[in-house]
Amino acid sequence: MKADLLYEGKAKRVHEAKDQPGKLVLSYKNDATAFNGKKKATFSGKGRLNNEISSRIFRLLHDYGTETHFIKQLNETEQLVQQTEIIPLEVVVRNQASGSITGRLGLDENTQFNPPIIELFYKNDELGDPLINDDHALVLSDVTGNELKEIKEKALEINHQLQKVFQTINITLVDFKIEFGRLASGCIVLADEISPDTCRLWDITTQEKLDKDVFRQGTGDLLAVYREILKRLEEIS
Ligand code: UDP
Repeated sequence: MKADLLYEGKAKRVHEAKDQPGKLVLSYKNDATAFNGKKKATFSGKGRLNNEISSRIFRLLHDYGTETHFIKQLNETEQLVQQTEIIPLEVVVRNQASGSITGRLGLDENTQFNPPIIELFYKNDELGDPLINDDHALVLSDVTGNELKEIKEKALEINHQLQKVFQTINITLVDFKIEFGRLASGCIVLADEISPDTCRLWDITTQEKLDKDVFRQGTGDLLAVYREILKRLEEIS
C-alpha cells in the first residue's frame, strides 16, 4: 500500500500510496512531543489511538459537509488521504483560555470566548511556530486574502461541528489546532489530524483533562486518557 517516504514529522510519517497517484498514506507514530520537541517520549499504542480517533472525527466532519483530505482508514495505524500541499499555517480556534494565550495575554484559564478566537501561527519549527497576523499569513503562505477568509470561516464551522460532537460525549472543546492543504485542483480542504494531540478536551462533569496536556504537564497517563476519548467516540461513531 505504501511507497516512498515523503516526510517524517513528530507524530506521523507520510508515504506516497503505491500505484495510487495523488494519494498518500499517513502513518501514525507512537511518539509524543511537547514544547517544540524539547520533551519527548514514546507510548506504545498511541499511534493506533490517534489514527482511530482522527479517522472517526474526520468521518463525522465529512458527514456534516466539511471537505477534508481523508479517504479511509487502512489499518490500525494508517489512513489513506488525498495528497495536498500543506498551507504553512497552524489555525488555532479557542472557546476558552488555556495554554499559551493565558501567559501571552494575562488571561485566567477558563475565560470564555464568545465568539471564539482564531489565532494563526506560522508553521516553522526553526522559528518556534510564531503567532502571526493576517498580513503576515499572506506573505508567508500562498493563500489569497479571500482564501484566508475562507479558511477562517471553515475553522469556525469545524469548531461548531466539533463542539456538538464533543458535547454529546460530555466533553468541553477548549481549543484545537487544524491545518489546511491545497488539492491539485486548487481547492483548500481540512488536512492533517484532529486528536487529543491537537485539541484540549476537558470532561464537562469533572473538568479532567483528556488530552496531551497530561503529557505536557506530567499530570496523568496519556494512553489512559486517549483510550477514554476513543471509548466515548465509539459510542457515537
Ligand atoms: N497545538 C497543536 N500543535 C502545536 C501547538 C498547539 O496541536 O504545535 C494545539 C494544542 O494542543 C491546543 C491548541 O493548539 O489544543 C492551542 O495551543 P496553544 O497555543 O495554547 O499552545 P500550547 O500551550 O499547546 O503550547
